[in-house]
Amino acid sequence: MEKHNRKQSAETKKEHAADGHKGHDRICDGGPIIQLIDVWKVYKMGEVEVPALRGLSLEVYPCEFVSIMGPSGSGKSTSMNMVGCLDIPTRGRIYLDGKDIAELDESHLAQIRGRKIGFVFQQFNLISNLTAMENVMMPMMFQDTPTYEREERAMRLLSTVGLEGRTHHRPTELSGGEQQRVAIARALANDPPVILADEPTGNLDSRRGQEIMELLRTLHEREMKTIIMVTHDEKLSKYADRIIYIKDGKVLEGGNGK
Ligand code: ADP
Ligand code: MG
Repeated sequence: MEKHNRKQSAETKKEHAADGHKGHDRICDGGPIIQLIDVWKVYKMGEVEVPALRGLSLEVYPCEFVSIMGPSGSGKSTSMNMVGCLDIPTRGRIYLDGKDIAELDESHLAQIRGRKIGFVFQQFNLISNLTAMENVMMPMMFQDTPTYEREERAMRLLSTVGLEGRTHHRPTELSGGEQQRVAIARALANDPPVILADEPTGNLDSRRGQEIMELLRTLHEREMKTIIMVTHDEKLSKYADRIIYIKDGKVLEGGNGK
């Protein structure tokens, strides 16, 4: 039943795309774009083992907007690192677009990750001595985009996030909300189907936070981005279509929102 609903909404999104968003012919059906199966992550702190994830299983389908919720220390950021293929699990399997990432070497994985996933962090993580535009152009350097195209695209993305007047500002010359917009534009640089955001409004006041959430929601609706957002804030999860609740490093029973 749920599956049926999801497919229906995928169909609607496809029509929406055909309507007025040429160039965004995302495929919103098919298997999960990201799947974690019984993932464990145990950090070793000298003699002590800290199990951050204890058998986390979840799947996210193309064009979904999912929120991962849980208290501080429950393993949200660790799970984000796994979902984003930024770190390898102690055990368990991770599939990105149907490919077992354990079978890819580091450079191949980096290449796929760069194309498929854009990252947004709580701390913005912009490069401080680069301008907004240069920050946005950064991820394109690793994907063989010609220079003129990089500039043009960076300009367009900054205008998408409402920062056309700030292209030559450096991070210190921007407010927190503006910095996060630059970070979102950067995440969009290679037009990835998936955006991962770890507490993206955690360093913003509630008004700026809301604006960032609305921007993510718009990207989801207009460009059919798959969005996976981590938060501990119940108010923010209303922007998502589905909430996955995690606690003590795994999904709460019945907490995958399906
Ligand atoms: P959340 O994002 O939900 O607050 P985290 O995923 O950051 O939780 O952390 C989950 C648990 O793993 C916590 O107990 C944390 O202290 C521990 N942890 C996270 N990262 C590391 C690390 N690099 N080394 C050791 N322990 C870690
Ligand atoms: Mg965290």
